[in-house]
Amino acid sequence: MKINTAEFIISNSDVKKCPTEPIPEYAFIGRSNVGKSSLINMLTNNKNLAKTSSRPGKTQLINHFKINNNWFLVDLPGYGYAKVSKSTKAIFQKFITEYFEKREQLVSAFVLVDIRHEAQKIDLEFINYLGESGVPFGIIFTKADKISKGSIQKHTAAYTKALHANGWEEVPPFFVTSSESEFGKDEVLNYIDQINQD
Ligand code: GDP
Repeated sequence: MKINTAEFIISNSDVKKCPTEPIPEYAFIGRSNVGKSSLINMLTNNKNLAKTSSRPGKTQLINHFKINNNWFLVDLPGYGYAKVSKSTKAIFQKFITEYFEKREQLVSAFVLVDIRHEAQKIDLEFINYLGESGVPFGIIFTKADKISKGSIQKHTAAYTKALHANGWEEVPPFFVTSSESEFGKDEVLNYIDQINQD
């Protein structure tokens, strides 16, 4: 799939105010600074669609973008930034949990993790939360250009192992990406396209 149009629709912190159009929706979420804005801009061929920022935790809203006039891409707030929330319980702000629990259009979430790092507790907690809430999700590894091609498999295998250790028997679909080199772009977009066509 090629993205021809990507249109900003609305930002808000109230699930009830999200667009009502019944078209499939995919939500992108991850720790602040994981590379979410860069990934969204890369996928949509638009350098400015999502705001990349040097100040983590800046975008604290649910942002809806309409893609090719037939699905929504949702940019959710980054989590796990100390300034935004103090206790582990507070990391997922209420409106985010409401979003996952109430948003009927949501087809799949994508949890972004930096490929360089070992599985982080906060990401595993979030992944478990999605599992417990019955939200389908995939994992997108970001910043793959920062490690050698030869070590990509080692990093993803270590992550898979952490998921197994965390009680996940089956590993969710995962994608290795780089916003710098556009590595993995087609895989992510084709995955979404495939689901939309089913
Ligand atoms: P966000 O807070 O998750 O939206 O993260 P950003 O997209 O703002 O990226 C955080 C930082 O990581 C910025 O300095 C980006 O330039 C950098 N970055 C993001 N994606 C990549 C990538 O694929 N490769 C490299 N080398 N840097 C990246």
